[in-house]
Amino acid sequence: MSEFDAVVVGSGPNGLAAAVVLARAGLSVAVYEKSATIGGGARTAELTLPGFAHDVCSAVHPMAFASPFFRAFGIRDRVDFVVPELSYGQPLDGGRAALAWHDLERTATDLGRDGGAWRRLFAPLVEHATELAQVTGTSLARWPDHPATLARFGTRVLEQGSFGWNARFRDAAAPALLTGVMAHSIQPMPGLAPAAAGLVLATHAHAGGWPIPAGGSQAIVDAMAADVLAHGGSITTGAEIRSLAELPSSGAVLLDTTPRALLALAGDRVPRGYARSLRRFRYGNAVAKVDFALSGPVPWANGELRGAGTLHLGGTRAEVAASESEVAAGRMPASPYVLVSQPSGFDASRAPAGKHVLWAYTHVPAASTADATESITAQIERFAPGFRDLILASASKSAVEYESYNPNYVGGDISGGAPSLAQLLRRPTLFEPWRTPMRGVYLASSSTPPGPGVHGLGGLNAATSVLRHEFGIGSLPHLGP
Ligand SMILES: Cc1cc2nc3c(=O)[nH]c(=O)nc-3n(C[C@H](O)[C@H](O)[C@H](O)COP(=O)(O)OP(=O)(O)OC[C@H]3O[C@@H](n4cnc5c(N)ncnc54)[C@H](O)[C@@H]3O)c2cc1C
Repeated sequence: MSEFDAVVVGSGPNGLAAAVVLARAGLSVAVYEKSATIGGGARTAELTLPGFAHDVCSAVHPMAFASPFFRAFGIRDRVDFVVPELSYGQPLDGGRAALAWHDLERTATDLGRDGGAWRRLFAPLVEHATELAQVTGTSLARWPDHPATLARFGTRVLEQGSFGWNARFRDAAAPALLTGVMAHSIQPMPGLAPAAAGLVLATHAHAGGWPIPAGGSQAIVDAMAADVLAHGGSITTGAEIRSLAELPSSGAVLLDTTPRALLALAGDRVPRGYARSLRRFRYGNAVAKVDFALSGPVPWANGELRGAGTLHLGGTRAEVAASESEVAAGRMPASPYVLVSQPSGFDASRAPAGKHVLWAYTHVPAASTADATESITAQIERFAPGFRDLILASASKSAVEYESYNPNYVGGDISGGAPSLAQLLRRPTLFEPWRTPMRGVYLASSSTPPGPGVHGLGGLNAATSVLRHEFGIGSLPHLGP
């Protein structure tokens, strides 16, 4: 008789999502987490000064309202979110800016001559945003539930992922705006994988918006952990698992880890062919991040950007693409792409009265040891002169420091494996990628479909597979509050 029905290694959003599903199905579940606190890439901590709450990894949650897991879990009834009217913005030189409002029509109006092109690109996707979240929320190697939505999406991916990507646009703002969101994927552009990531994220910006949790990302994982505990599960922190043999006996083991860690944890239990697939899995380029404590709001040259939840810095489409090509070639770009979140403008709990936190990261080659404080500060200063004078304190993490912080971020790759087109299909294998050939052993992390992001879908997909194959349960339990 096993000690537990299921054991989960790792308490990131995917590990916790798997634990929620299994505990709700009436199984006994134990979660083991290496760090002193739960949450993986969704922790919030005072990284700079007392009273300043910084998101250590994820900050903005485009999938919070769209993810089929979070919808079933009822995240909106458990966590307070702010949805900025201005989902994201991209400053351009000379005080100009491209703005992606939550409202698609307002965005199209602001984009002037390219407004119609933007509307035609996104309106059909926004209208079917829930279906889009379903078809992109699982393995692309299975027959989609909504083929018409997949076709609409696919044609747009082909267009924006190819060298014809400028054909529909006449001015600089709209293509810059789209490139800023495509660049989240840390891939050279144009390319099909960044186009797919960008179009999904941009669609959700106009559908549910890009929500920011009150108090920080920690609120999301705390709600998930509370649900696991409320349904009989246990969570042990400070428990690094070094071998599957260390785990208590169970009917299933779910690993919220990378394929690299799976190889190390399972040792010679891994069949040779599967081990080859895991070794073939590639990790991508990386991020280096800086968190700032500020004495006031960022003085953006374009005042509308004060209302943006997220900003993409780097300039025009050509400039951002050139910067990503430098990273892909293993070099530090002179003018880096910088992703910025400014939550304290929407959530006063993040900083003392009148003060602000600012979250910013840039892309760097894998395993870079560079401290990005100066390059990020200079890029912000380019679009917000006077920014430097507001800095009270800052805390930086290089790519290699991210791996020390969380072994899932190999070389500072925050995606759990490069989200290239090939690895969106084989993640790390083609069919039923959550289930390994080792009896009862499953992968549940962002190294499985649908890949990176705080959406809990790797965990949901793995737990669904466990319920079916190990416990003969064919339907999902109720997950709502
Ligand atoms: C700087 C940064 C910014 C990001 N920004 C965003 C964002 O704004 N929005 C967004 O949606 N996503 C963002 N992401 C990505 C997002 O955080 C990840 O995709 C997501 O956290 C992946 O979830 P996961 O559960 O698969 O893995 P993780 O969140 O990485 O969790 C894995 C957990 O497993 C634990 N673990 C690993 N090995 C072991 C072991 N052997 N024993 C015990 N425990 C172990 C780790 O300590 C960790 O807690 C960001 C990531 C980073 C690093």
